[in-house]
Amino acid sequence: MRVMMVRLLFAAALLAAALAGAPRRVLYVTHSAGYRHDSIPASRQVLEEMAGRSEGALEVVSTEDVSLINAETLRGFDILFFFTSGELALSDAQKADLLDFVRAGKGFGGVHSATDTLYGWPEYGELIGGVFDGHPWAREVSIRVEDPEHPAVSHFPPSFSLADEIYQFRSFSREKVRVLLSLDTASVDMNAENVRRTDGDFALAWCRQYGSGRVFYTALGHPEGVWLDPRFQTMLLNAFRWLSGDVPGDAAPRIP
Ligand SMILES: [Zn+2]
Repeated sequence: MRVMMVRLLFAAALLAAALAGAPRRVLYVTHSAGYRHDSIPASRQVLEEMAGRSEGALEVVSTEDVSLINAETLRGFDILFFFTSGELALSDAQKADLLDFVRAGKGFGGVHSATDTLYGWPEYGELIGGVFDGHPWAREVSIRVEDPEHPAVSHFPPSFSLADEIYQFRSFSREKVRVLLSLDTASVDMNAENVRRTDGDFALAWCRQYGSGRVFYTALGHPEGVWLDPRFQTMLLNAFRWLSGDVPGDAAPRIP
């Protein structure tokens, strides 16, 4: 009896060790059904190198194949992450599988044109928290950190400069997401062509709870230079940790 108990405890310890050491797996989808960003190859390299430096804590599988978005494949992943564009060819069953994956407690996220995709599927815009509505500026801007406590952005100073293409959103509400980064509108020309938001609210990163799962999105990431920026890389690595549930971070919306 005693030997049996020791064996059971030993097996449990082995299992716990295996679980603690299990890599967090990211399925990184870079299919462009619309505009294709030149920075995609660099982005894949950056995420794969990040995984390589993680000593087995993170694995990244990059793919252009959207047929991998299905319940069976997603069972092997902790995070589904998009740098996509246009109308991805997803069946109704795949769409349901994607939403179920997040609701059941996994992570979904994206960069930049991950909001410039799947316009024909309103639930997707709801999931990610906003819909691309043009990019009024492409230049160096000043960005404010709205939640210095959140692990994805806690490494940034309260305000920093970055050269990127700056998105504007529709179907976006601070009542649904927690904004982490936003544009300091004093650093841009608010009379620029295509400025449609009248409230001056240009969120550049946010997170939210979705069912039992988590969502993280940043509008940044157009040029290769942003991907090569260590500050951007740290944001994504810590976002992955948060999306995996490995580090805490409040996702409750805050209405200013
Ligand atoms: Zn872009």
